[in-house]
Amino acid sequence: MHRKRIRSITAIFASVAVSINLFSLIGLAQSNGKTHSLRGFSEASAAAELNWEEKMRAVPKPELLREYMKQLSAEPHHVGSAYDKQNAEWIRDKFKSWGIDAKLEEFDVLFPTPTERVLEMIEPGRFRATLKEPAIPEDPDSGDENQLPTYNAYSIDGDVTGQLVYANYGVPADYDELAKLGVDVKGKIVITRYGGSWRGIKPKVAAEHGAIGCLIYSDPRDDGYYQGDVFPQGPYRPEQGAQRGSVMDMPIHPGDPLTPGWGAVKGARRIPREQAEVITKIPVMPISYGDALPMLRELRGPLAPDAWRGALPITYHVGSGPARVHLKLSFDWSMKTLYDVVARIEGSTYPDEWVIFGNHHDAWVNGADDPTSGQVALMETGRAFGELLKQGWKPKRTIIMCAWDGEEEGLLGSTEWVETHADELKQKAVAYLNSDTTSKGRLGVGGSHSLERLINEVARDVSQPGGKGSVLDAMKERRVDQARTDEDRKEIRERGDLRIGALGSGSDYTPFLQHLGIASMNTGFGGDGGGGVYHSIYDSFAWYVKFGDPTFEYGAALSQVNGTIVIRLASADVVPFEFTNLADTLGRYVDEIDKLTIRGKRQRDIDLTPLKTAVKSLTEASLRYEDALTKAAARGFQTVKQAKALNELIYQSERKLINEQGLPRRPWFKHQMYAPGFYTGYGVKTIPGVREAIEEKNWNEVAPEMKKASAAIQALTSQIDAGTRMLEGK
Ligand SMILES: [Zn+2]
Repeated sequence: MHRKRIRSITAIFASVAVSINLFSLIGLAQSNGKTHSLRGFSEASAAAELNWEEKMRAVPKPELLREYMKQLSAEPHHVGSAYDKQNAEWIRDKFKSWGIDAKLEEFDVLFPTPTERVLEMIEPGRFRATLKEPAIPEDPDSGDENQLPTYNAYSIDGDVTGQLVYANYGVPADYDELAKLGVDVKGKIVITRYGGSWRGIKPKVAAEHGAIGCLIYSDPRDDGYYQGDVFPQGPYRPEQGAQRGSVMDMPIHPGDPLTPGWGAVKGARRIPREQAEVITKIPVMPISYGDALPMLRELRGPLAPDAWRGALPITYHVGSGPARVHLKLSFDWSMKTLYDVVARIEGSTYPDEWVIFGNHHDAWVNGADDPTSGQVALMETGRAFGELLKQGWKPKRTIIMCAWDGEEEGLLGSTEWVETHADELKQKAVAYLNSDTTSKGRLGVGGSHSLERLINEVARDVSQPGGKGSVLDAMKERRVDQARTDEDRKEIRERGDLRIGALGSGSDYTPFLQHLGIASMNTGFGGDGGGGVYHSIYDSFAWYVKFGDPTFEYGAALSQVNGTIVIRLASADVVPFEFTNLADTLGRYVDEIDKLTIRGKRQRDIDLTPLKTAVKSLTEASLRYEDALTKAAARGFQTVKQAKALNELIYQSERKLINEQGLPRRPWFKHQMYAPGFYTGYGVKTIPGVREAIEEKNWNEVAPEMKKASAAIQALTSQIDAGTRMLEGK
């Protein structure tokens, strides 16, 4: 999963208003520039740490990344396939060969695969969709056996016939537009294009409007020849390429549909499939633009609005009809076994404090890019840790490295693991670092803003491939290029830390962050390769070595970035969380919500004072903490009497942003600051309870949600103040 992260983060940056630069006011940019202060380390321990980090960064070798990828992407390896299990065992054995304890953890989950797929136009002419991606000679893996056909997982079975309506991206606003054009989708089959939202939102919204079936096609304007040359000449999606993918209603909850909220271990209680909330209400299927064209060509009715028109050689009409189509889908709903690889290095001082790092290993087909590019980088980080251990390195905290299974279907492997170990994780997890796909370009980062400073310090200390200074320099350069206003450019150059985007969903950090409140980050390079083989048979070794990261230098750089993050978290005297950036960011979210209520046809008076007051207190507490931390570090943390208790307070601070009741209509999502949008899917909604109540005009929810969010911020503030007192030796 996890597509175009960099683009979406850029959009977040561009869309938020610039607020006061906290650092220019208080002069706290202590880690900026050439000084090598390390947050959370005393001067003496920083020197030792930097020495180990340099040794670690010398280990990753591009040629080994290439070798692992060749092995892992050699055959299709989706959940339930023989090669998926074989890959899990191979990864486990690699970790063991590096001297790291590793094992498999198994879960049994509901994972449907298609037994019948029919899509045909029956009026005005007849056309039967091929639903088949052809093998091409330039890509030997494209002819592999055991490829999963093109389909959307967790579509319901169905046999429907109806007139076709073109609904653009299929988001709620598109149906408002259709209504204006006098087109009703009730009893019709809608055809939507990929983009504009996560795919699972499209059948959900279509069903809410009364449609009986949903098609999702890749329009070449967004994903195909309009973007550039198509594979194998270029990296973009060819005519018959289709995007597989899950349509589970993940904004309700990810993970196994039959065990919502608890682990899908053998013998676990399971709800009947009919009660599973996250399976679609109507049948849905993805198709190529080759298959979409003959049907779209037979639509009449109103002309599609300008912004709805794609790059196919037709005049886009919305219908309905005269095209009339028949869609028939049935699935094998049997249970499949997941194989998560869990590798572990025991901490020497704080074995019960866990730094967790994961990347999924399952793919829709061969998945060289998604997820193998990230998985092989994780493995090289693991090998580097093995080398360090041989040289006598002893991380203070336990490091757990995970290769997740079943991410593509709905974060199955990570969610079931998190739900199974929830009690222990709430107590012990320091932070979760995730990666997924990676390719040439700049580092993209999203995460908890309590870790924004850490990411900046790490990016400062790792070299960008190609000798362009540090990873941080390269990120800043790209951000400046993409900034839309002078004000934005100024902020990027002058703010102490480069901002990171908030996490919505789309990869395995979701259960850690949004279910349990474990501070999380997601990292990956990208942006320079171009791509259009996502979730197709062409996401192959041949594609990756031509277009993704031909030299594997960026993969090696990701091993270095992630390795540095992990060992810094695992070895710090005081875990390097930082709260002024968090307070600053939350203040911006409140400002955005304020503008939303003014700009939108504000139908109610909304008083955001509780949130504003809470953020103000948090800002003050975070400044007191900064002051105390700086002083304590200068004293070598000698005056801190309860180091273990202090660390626990600080890494558990993110838990305070959880409310056990969760969000309205989706109690699994408990984080009060970050959630995937109910109607955007991957796209993040910040302070989601309040923001979505206003956006959806659920006016009676605004006050209670504001109370929950404000209380969470206040609880965090108290926790930080307790940490400050401990730093002061009280
Ligand atoms: Zn992925």
